[in-house]
Amino acid sequence: MWGSGARVLLRVEDHDRERSRPEYEAGILDDLDWLGYRPDVFPTEAFRAGRCDGRQSDRDVVYREAVNELASRGLVYACDCTRRDIEQRSQRPDNDELWYSGRCRDRGLSLDEGVGWRVRFEPGVERFCDELLGQQEQDPFLQCGDVLIRDRLGNWTYQFAVSVDDYRQGIDLVVRGVDLLPSTGRQIRLARLLGRERPAAFRHHPLIMKTADQKLIGSFEFSHPPDNSERLNAGFEYGFKKYVFLRGGYNMNYDSEGIAGGAGFHFPVSVAGQADLDYAYTDMKDLGGSHRVSLKFVF
Ligand SMILES: [Zn+2]
Repeated sequence: MWGSGARVLLRVEDHDRERSRPEYEAGILDDLDWLGYRPDVFPTEAFRAGRCDGRQSDRDVVYREAVNELASRGLVYACDCTRRDIEQRSQRPDNDELWYSGRCRDRGLSLDEGVGWRVRFEPGVERFCDELLGQQEQDPFLQCGDVLIRDRLGNWTYQFAVSVDDYRQGIDLVVRGVDLLPSTGRQIRLARLLGRERPAAFRHHPLIMKTADQKLIGSFEFSHPPDNSERLNAGFEYGFKKYVFLRGGYNMNYDSEGIAGGAGFHFPVSVAGQADLDYAYTDMKDLGGSHRVSLKFVF
């Protein structure tokens, strides 16, 4: 976007308080500084200084105002369905998404803590022209049903937070991966319900991925402060029998280049988490070979 005349806004999407940590944000800010990115709106110093409107967890007031606006028109209701309730009533086996049946629409539950909050979606097609994929049509009512905007733990959902922010912050071009294409219609719908007259433009780019088991990987590893161990690598990862993966690739840095290979195991350690035991060998020609074993827990 830089160089095209557009202004770039930095937003930290930490709407999910269970999964967000201040240290993750600090790491991202440091990385952006190191890479030399200078957002036009909400530079990294603005985040470090404390409360910042670029940070979703600081925008509770803004989201509440948006809810009040929708609620005043009778568009918001509370829902105490569990995921299991929703699955049992989701009558659309052809749908890859969980479809909410609208069970709580007219139950009159109050908008309290401990229940989900939803926005009514009437049937109707949203049409938009993706800048890469062309004309698209989505009916959010058929895709997901009434959209969840706040979960029972009090977290604003991704769909709601970005719809409010994109509108209020004047975002007019959204560039993102094609995995978010199905979310676009509902975000356009939410924004319109909030009063946005002209939706943002969208450009969904392909993800570099083959199947769930086979993916092209690319990464740039660096340290901060820089210590010349930075390296760029690209390769291919092949997973089989669910828990095993093999990896091959090419590495380069300032001084050398070489091939890399590795193998590892993923194994579940709890319902939500997994551990990765990973071995990698990198041959960096002049710099010699190196072995690395890592054990990583992902939750
Ligand atoms: Zn419900």
